[in-house]
Amino acid sequence: MPTDNDPAHPMLRLIPRDGHNVSRKDISSSALRVLYRLRDGGFGAYLVGGAVRDILVGGHPKDFDVATDATPEQVKQLFRNCRLIGRRFRLAHVVFGREIIEVATFRANVDDGSGDRELHEGGRLLRDNVYGTIEEDAIRRDFTANALYYAIEDFSVRDYTGGFEDVQNRLMRLIGDPETRYREDPVRMLRAVRLAAKLDFEIEAATAAPIPQLAPLLSEAAPARLFEECLKLFLSGHAVESFLRLERHGLLQTLLPESAAALKSNRSGALRRMLIEGLRGTDHRVANDEPVSPAFLFALLLWPAYCRALMALQAQGMHTVEAQRRAADRVTLHQLGTVALPRRFSLPMQEIWLLQSRFSQRQRKRVFRLLAHPRFRAAFDFLALRLSASDEHADDVEFWREAQTQPGDALAAQLDAQAQDDVESDAAPRKRRRRRRNPAAAE
Ligand code: ATP
Ligand code: MG
Repeated sequence: MPTDNDPAHPMLRLIPRDGHNVSRKDISSSALRVLYRLRDGGFGAYLVGGAVRDILVGGHPKDFDVATDATPEQVKQLFRNCRLIGRRFRLAHVVFGREIIEVATFRANVDDGSGDRELHEGGRLLRDNVYGTIEEDAIRRDFTANALYYAIEDFSVRDYTGGFEDVQNRLMRLIGDPETRYREDPVRMLRAVRLAAKLDFEIEAATAAPIPQLAPLLSEAAPARLFEECLKLFLSGHAVESFLRLERHGLLQTLLPESAAALKSNRSGALRRMLIEGLRGTDHRVANDEPVSPAFLFALLLWPAYCRALMALQAQGMHTVEAQRRAADRVTLHQLGTVALPRRFSLPMQEIWLLQSRFSQRQRKRVFRLLAHPRFRAAFDFLALRLSASDEHADDVEFWREAQTQPGDALAAQLDAQAQDDVESDAAPRKRRRRRRNPAAAE
């Protein structure tokens, strides 16, 4: 008997306008214009994917995707402001100033023997480029919650996979057999975690079950794509939830292998506390519309790995400065195997790490040089964050927090006075020490 989640026989459940909360008020005027123009052109026109899902849970979509039975060429004829992108599978982008509405022709993923669908030996999907029906378009999507269609013709929501109910129950459920779908595209494991974190959903049991075992497949995914996924996981306002879920589903070891190992061997849990605290700060900044940087994020995510590498090199007797540089390079290089962190982010990330040891230096010249360093602010914020792991640097944090607010000449005077004090108190203990040793010798 066909069921809602049987890929071979998708059944339509039509939720009329009074049965759901998707309102035209929630849809951007550009997306509405595209939908109406397609409909007036005699085509099927649907809002689809993340936008429908997000509106259903009361959220505000950041972009609007449209699906239609019009071919890309037919779409292009309807819109002057339209360009076609993609070579094998063509998509139409309709451009309204800074907003782009992506219009995709229904796509099928069926293996029809035409050779248009190719699988890697491991079951990974290499290409999919056959136009199809709305039913086929629905079942080739990843999660049921992502496969809902809002029809402009009657304002109904069309559900072929049971997604409407899953959204009500706040469940991420893969369409079809989970293991097969993860093998086709291992990034779906990260998408499950990311969307569950973002929407405060649970991953449905059968969808979650194969993840820990299949997690290593992620290392076969394109590193550039994994970098993009990392930004979405950690810079969209739900970084803490993403991290906890990556841990819970056994994905952290594959995504950030060296940091995961370092966290595991850090018995006190201090590094993990700092990481979570840093991610909490990131979420706070996003919530307040403050800028967040991938360099700082990765400095945070890879800090456990860096600390561990540094300790290992120092244990081998390497000089601190050299060990710091080597540890930073090694951790960066190893991580690049999985996540393609571009140099414009990895270099400042390393600077944030390497500047940490300069905060304990108080000579006037060095203090001013560090204050003028382009990465000072990020490195200082990082230092402050390290307080959540240990209060060892509390003095430094206090000093540099002050130093930033003081006028230059006042700071210079303070540093000179401090240097003078240091010379004097430096001499004093030496004398004391000598005295302490001497009495014994005299006896
Ligand atoms: P968000 O934009 O909030 O990150 P989204 O669901 O809109 O989430 P997109 O990457 O914009 O994610 O993808 C748009 C739609 O394309 C999804 O809703 C889903 O239907 C489909 N899709 C995306 N990635 C995959 C995938 N790896 N496999 C199958 N379908 C996918
Ligand atoms: Mg989207």
